[in-house]
Amino acid sequence: MAVAQNIRCSHCGAPMEFNPGEIIATCKYCGFTTVIETGQAFTFDHSLILNKFDLAAIETPIKDWMSGGFLKPSDLARKSKLTEKSLVYLPFWLVSVEAKSTYKGIFERIAPAIVKEGTLSKEYDWLVLAREAAEFPTREYAVPLQGKIPYDFRRIEGFAKVLNSEIDREEALDLTRTQIDNHHRFLLQQDVDRIIEIKTEVELKQMVYLHAPIWFIKYEYKSNLYQLVFDGATGAVVKGDIPTSRF
Ligand SMILES: [Zn+2]
Repeated sequence: MAVAQNIRCSHCGAPMEFNPGEIIATCKYCGFTTVIETGQAFTFDHSLILNKFDLAAIETPIKDWMSGGFLKPSDLARKSKLTEKSLVYLPFWLVSVEAKSTYKGIFERIAPAIVKEGTLSKEYDWLVLAREAAEFPTREYAVPLQGKIPYDFRRIEGFAKVLNSEIDREEALDLTRTQIDNHHRFLLQQDVDRIIEIKTEVELKQMVYLHAPIWFIKYEYKSNLYQLVFDGATGAVVKGDIPTSRF
């Protein structure tokens, strides 16, 4: 494990802080990004999505979320207490691809069953979370790319945490291929009942490493704790635990 090594930022000389399993680290003093294994500079695009909320302002979208919607207890906004508000810049790989699946399957909804063949082609900006274990619903999150700037450490709030990448470029591309193949298998359920053969080819157009601001909120309601995840760029809820009503 790399944790015992004494690695210094090759740009400003400050000690690089990273945890076991992290492979791309960003210096918190100068924003320079280094590949830990080689000690070399990270040479691909590194972007930042700007956060628009401070610790006080983030309460507005939280209260709005708590006050709206049919499934929530009517006193949720009034009776909840926020017990934790953390801003974390999560690392992602944004993989822009053209994907084409050639498939053969059996259509069984009519008798006799027939064999169907076809192709499914789509373009994606596929998002891969660059952490192994983070509790984050990546597929529920539409990364707000219009607010993307080159990574700038000066825009990171003092109270925020920046997580390093545990997944390298090649691994992110492999994950993209696997996840798109699975996604296409899911989409093809509309056309065929059973897939006999499928081959998904993914052509890479562009790949960007980026940090995006995510708020992790904990709130207490009637002595239970619940978690909320908010997009710091838009204030949109990414995931919201709702107390189940007890009658
Ligand atoms: Zn540095």
